[in-house]
Amino acid sequence: MDNILSGIKPTGQLTLGNYIGAIKNFVKVQNEGESFLFIADLHALTLPIEPETLKNNSRDIAAYYLAAGLDPNRANIFLQSDVPSHSELAIILQNYLYMGELSRMTQFKDKSSKMKEEAIGLGLFAYPVLMAADIVLYDSKRIPVGEDQVQHVELARDLVKRFNNRYGEVLVMPKAEIAKVGARIMSLSDPTKKMSKSDPKGDIYLNDSLEAIRKKIMSAVTDMVGKVHYDVSNQPGISNLMTIMSSLSGKTFEQIEKEFEGKGYGDFKRAVADTVVAELTPFKQRYEEIIKSGLVDEVLQRGASRANQIASKTLLRVQKAVGLYHK
Ligand code: ATP
Ligand code: MG
Repeated sequence: MDNILSGIKPTGQLTLGNYIGAIKNFVKVQNEGESFLFIADLHALTLPIEPETLKNNSRDIAAYYLAAGLDPNRANIFLQSDVPSHSELAIILQNYLYMGELSRMTQFKDKSSKMKEEAIGLGLFAYPVLMAADIVLYDSKRIPVGEDQVQHVELARDLVKRFNNRYGEVLVMPKAEIAKVGARIMSLSDPTKKMSKSDPKGDIYLNDSLEAIRKKIMSAVTDMVGKVHYDVSNQPGISNLMTIMSSLSGKTFEQIEKEFEGKGYGDFKRAVADTVVAELTPFKQRYEEIIKSGLVDEVLQRGASRANQIASKTLLRVQKAVGLYHK
C-alpha cells in the first residue's frame, strides 16, 4: 500500500473549497495506505500573519480533519514545524530547483503580483522547494490535492527525477491525485476565480453560521440563461453550484439537470444550500466537541512522533547520498 501525503496552510479560516477539494478526499483514501496529513504552518509564514491567528488556525485545521472523519489511529495528523526534517531537507533540495522554474509557478505569480518586489519574501518564492521536501520525506506516491496544487507536485516530480538521475534511486516519485468533481471550487461572487481562504470574496467558510452559508448561496452570482445546465464557459456560476451539489450529494450533473428542468434558479439555490447545510451541520457539531475535548494536542503529538520517525530516515538517506560528512 502506497503512502499518502497532503497538507493545508493555516493562513485563514478553511473554505468549502478546502473541504471539498482536499479534506473530503483525505477521508476517502485514509484506509488505502498510511497517510501523512499535516498542517503546513511553515508555509503559512510565507505571507504576513499574526502569531495568534497562525496558532488558532493550526489548531482549527487539526480539529476539522478529525471532524471530517479522519481517524487518528490510521492517519498521522501533525504540524509541519514539529518535524524539523522538513526544513533540513528543504535546505538541501533548494539546490536542485532553479530560479527560472520557480518564477513560472502560478501560485507565486498570483500571490506576489500585487506586491512590491522589495517586499516579496524569499519564502514565498521558494515555497515549492519546501513543498517538495514535504512530499518526498514520507516516500509518498499519492498526493491528493486541489487542481491549483498540481503544478507544485509536477515540480516535485521534476526534482525527484533530477535528484535520482544524479544520485541513484533515493527519492520516491510522487503523483498528484485530484477529485473528478470538485477539484476547483470557485468564488460565489466571481465564479471565474478560485475560492481561496486568503481572499474573502465569495467564500463559504467552514466556521460561518448555517444561516450565513444559506444567505451566501442564495446570493451567488449566476447568469441570464435561466437553465440549470453544466457549461463552465457560459454559465460558470451555475456550473460551480452544480459542482458543489454533485460533490456533496453524489448526484451526477445529468441527474441535477433533470431534477431542475423547468425550475428557476431560486429553487436550485435553495436545494444547493440544503445540501451544504446537511453536510456541515454534523461536521460543525463534531468540530465543537473536538475543540472542547482537548483531543487535538494529543493527536498532534502522536502524529509528530510517527512523522519524525519516517522523515528522519529519508533525510538521512538524502544526506548520505549527497555526501555530507559523518552521515
Ligand atoms: P490560500 O489562499 O492561503 O492559498 P487556499 O484556500 O488556496 O488558501 P491552501 O492551503 O493553499 O488553501 O490549499 C489546501 C488544499 O486545498 C490544497 O490541496 C488545495 O489544492 C485545495 N484547495 C484550495 N482551494 C480550493 C478550491 N477552491 N477548490 C478545491 N480545492 C481547493
Ligand atoms: Mg492556495
